[in-house]
Amino acid sequence: MSVNFTKPFTQQEAIPESAIERAVELLRSGRLHRYNTLKGETSEAELLEAEYASWQGTRYCVAVASGGQAMQIALRAAGVKPGDKVLANAWTLAPVPGAIHAVGAAPVYVETGDDWLTDLADLEAKAATSGARHFMLSHMRGHICDMDEVVRICAQYGISLIEDCAHTMGAEWKGRKSGNFGAAGCFSTQTYKHINSGEGGFLTTDDEDLAARAIILSGSYMLYARHGAAPSEEAFRKVRLETPNCSARIDNLRATILRAQLPLLEDNIRRWNNLYRAIEAGLAGASGIVTVPREQHEAFVGSSFQFHTLGITQADIPQFIANCLKRGVEVKWFGPEEPVAFTSRYDSWRYVADIPVLPKTLATLSTTCDLRLPLTFNEADCSLIAQIITEEAGKLVG
Ligand SMILES: *Cc1c(COP(=O)(O)O)cnc(C)c1O
Repeated sequence: MSVNFTKPFTQQEAIPESAIERAVELLRSGRLHRYNTLKGETSEAELLEAEYASWQGTRYCVAVASGGQAMQIALRAAGVKPGDKVLANAWTLAPVPGAIHAVGAAPVYVETGDDWLTDLADLEAKAATSGARHFMLSHMRGHICDMDEVVRICAQYGISLIEDCAHTMGAEWKGRKSGNFGAAGCFSTQTYKHINSGEGGFLTTDDEDLAARAIILSGSYMLYARHGAAPSEEAFRKVRLETPNCSARIDNLRATILRAQLPLLEDNIRRWNNLYRAIEAGLAGASGIVTVPREQHEAFVGSSFQFHTLGITQADIPQFIANCLKRGVEVKWFGPEEPVAFTSRYDSWRYVADIPVLPKTLATLSTTCDLRLPLTFNEADCSLIAQIITEEAGKLVG
C-alpha cells in the first residue's frame, strides 16, 4: 500500500507568544499608525527599522507595506523614470515586473539557466546594448548567482543594481548578506517568506540620498525623522519637497510581529536548510528527477526546493503533478502556458510591450518543479515527500 503525506504545504508556524502579548497591548492602546506615539515614545515601526538595519548590516532601512512596494520605491528612489528600461531576470514572480511597470518602466528580460541562476553572458550582452541603467536582480527561490560578476558587469556599464531578496533574507554570498551588493535591497515579510507579518517589506541601503527619497516615498509626510534607521536632516532637506508620498507605510502591529521573529531567524535558517538537505538526500538517485548542487559560495536559505523532471516527457508532467497531489504532495510546475495560483511565467505578463522569446528560460521552466518547505514540516516529512516524488516519477519514466 502506498503512503500519503497529510500536512498542508501552506501552514506557517505560530507567531511567538511574546509578540501576541505585545500585539494585544497595542490593540488596546489604539496607536497602530507608526507616527501615532505618545511624547517620548519610540514606535514599534521605528524600533523594527533600527533592528533590521543592524541585522542586515546596512546604514539605512525603511519598513513598508509589502515587498512589491519596497521594489517600486527602490526603483523610483534609484532614479528610474517613465519610459526607462530595467534589466530583470526572466524567472521571477509577478510582483517584480509589476513594480517595474508601476513606475512606468519596461523590463528587459535576461535569460535564466537550468541551474536557476541568471545567465551572466546574456546579462552582459543586454547591459551593453539595451540602454537600461538599472538591474532588478530577483534571487528567485533563493538561488544566488556569481555576485562578483554581477557587480563587475553593473560597474562596467554604469548600471545600478537593486536586489529582490524576497527569498534570500538571511542568505549570503561569499560571506556578504544578500541585499548588500547594490544600491538597495528589497525584502518581503509576506506570510510565505522568511519572517511573517501577513504583508510587509523592507528596503535597505547605504546610500543616504536614496534612503531619504525612499522614506518620503514610503509616505512619511514631514515626519521622516521618526524612522529608526534614517539619514540626517540634511539629506532630507534636498529631497523632501521634490519627492511624492506614495503611502506604503508599515503599521505598528505588523512591526511588533516582525520584531519578535527577527531573533529567531538565524535558527530558522538552520532548520530550513535541514529540511532542504532531507529532500535533496531523498531525491538523490530518483529516476527521471535531476537536482542541482548549490554554488559553493552561496549560503542559502532552503525555504523551497527545485528539481527538474528530465526523465518525464512534457506530455506526462501534468500527470506526475496530479499523481503527487493525490498523495498529498503539492509540487508546483513552471511549465504550463496558463498561470496557476502564485506561479506564472514571464510570457503571461502581457502588459509588457515587447515579450521576447527566451529559449533558455523556457527550456529551464518547462521541467522546473518547485516545493515549498514550511517550518511546520520536519525532516521525516521531507523524506516521505521525497519518497512519494521518487515513486511517482518512477512510474512515468519512459
Ligand atoms: C513575494 C515576492 C515578492 C513581493 O513580495 P510581496 O510582499 O508579496 O509584495 C517579490 N519577489 C519575489 C520573488 C517574491 O516571491
